[in-house]
Amino acid sequence: MKLIIIVPCFNEEEVLHETNHQLSKLIDSMVDEKLLTECDIIYIDDGSKDNTWSIIEELRNVSPYVKGLKLAHNVGHQNALWAGLEYSAGKCDAVVSIDADLQHDIHKIREMVLSYQAGYEVVYGVRNTRATDSKFKKKTALSFYKLMQKMGVDLIPNHADFRLLGKNALQALIEFPERNLFLRGMVRLLGFKETNVYFDCNDRFAGESKYTNSKMFNFAIDGITSFSVQPLRIITLIGLVCLGISVFEMVYILVAYFQGRTIQGWASLLFSVWFLGGLLLFSIGVVGEYIGKIYKEVKRRPRYIIEKQI
Ligand code: UDP
Ligand code: MG
Repeated sequence: MKLIIIVPCFNEEEVLHETNHQLSKLIDSMVDEKLLTECDIIYIDDGSKDNTWSIIEELRNVSPYVKGLKLAHNVGHQNALWAGLEYSAGKCDAVVSIDADLQHDIHKIREMVLSYQAGYEVVYGVRNTRATDSKFKKKTALSFYKLMQKMGVDLIPNHADFRLLGKNALQALIEFPERNLFLRGMVRLLGFKETNVYFDCNDRFAGESKYTNSKMFNFAIDGITSFSVQPLRIITLIGLVCLGISVFEMVYILVAYFQGRTIQGWASLLFSVWFLGGLLLFSIGVVGEYIGKIYKEVKRRPRYIIEKQI
C-alpha cells in the first residue's frame, strides 16, 4: 500500500531535520517489512517566516520520500492540514497527519497502518496522559473537551490531529464544503469503521509551541460555533429567565410605588442596567459569531493558496 504522511509546519526550522530523519527511518523499516510499498512525506509550509521552506527544499534533495507545499501565507494548522489532505486524495491508500514537533509518537504510525490493513478506515491517535503539558494547557484542554461534550459535540477526548484516514474516508472528508474547519469534529461525522491507537505524548523536540494562547482560544470558539447551536439556545433560555425575573420585579416596583419607597432602589436599578446591558452585548456578540461564520462560508474564499510545490 501507499501511505502519505502530512506534516504541517509553521516556523519549524529547529525540528525539521530531526523529524525527517526519524520519519525516514521509520518508513525505511516499514518498507523493509513490506507493510508499505511506497510512502511520501508532505511538508506543508504554512507561511513560515523562518527557514522552514529552505530546509524542506534541502530535505527534498537528500531524501526520496520528501515532498513540499509552500502556502503563500499563514492560514493556520487546520487549513494547512487540509491543503495536504486535498493534495493526497486519489494519490494513496491512506494518509497520516502528524505534528512536526515529534510530540506525537511516530512509531504508532505502524500500528495505524496495521489497523488500516485490518479494515479500519479511521484510526485516531489518542494521548495516554498529558504529563508533558504545562498546567495551563492541561486545564484548558480538559475544560475544552468537557465544554464540547456539554455542547453536544462528539469528540474523542485527548485526540488531536494525529490520525490515519483511509482513501474512502479521505475522499468523503474533502467533500465537506465548509470553510470553518474543525477536523477532529468533522472526521467523527464520517461514520466509517474507526478505532483508537494510544500513545504517550513527548515533549516538543525543539522550539516553542506555535499555538499561542490566542490561537488556542480562537480554535476553541471555532470548534464550538462550527459544531453546535447550543450557545444560541442558552441565550434564549437566559432571555426567558430574565423575562421571568422582570415580571416579579414589576410587582415589587408597583408595591414599592404605592408604599412611597421609590427613591430607594437606585442601586438595584443601576445594577439591572449594567447587567442587562452586558447580557445584551454578550448575546449580540454570540449571534454575531454565527453570522460571521455564515459570512465566511458564503464568500467561499479558498482555504489556502499554494505558492510553490516540490
Ligand atoms: N502549525 C501550523 N500553522 C499554525 C500553527 C501551527 O501549521 O498556524 C503546525 C505546527 O508547525 C505543528 C502543529 O501545527 O506541526 C501543531 O502545533 P504546535 O506543536 O505548535 O502546537 P501544540 O502542540 O503546542 O498544541
Ligand atoms: Mg506541539
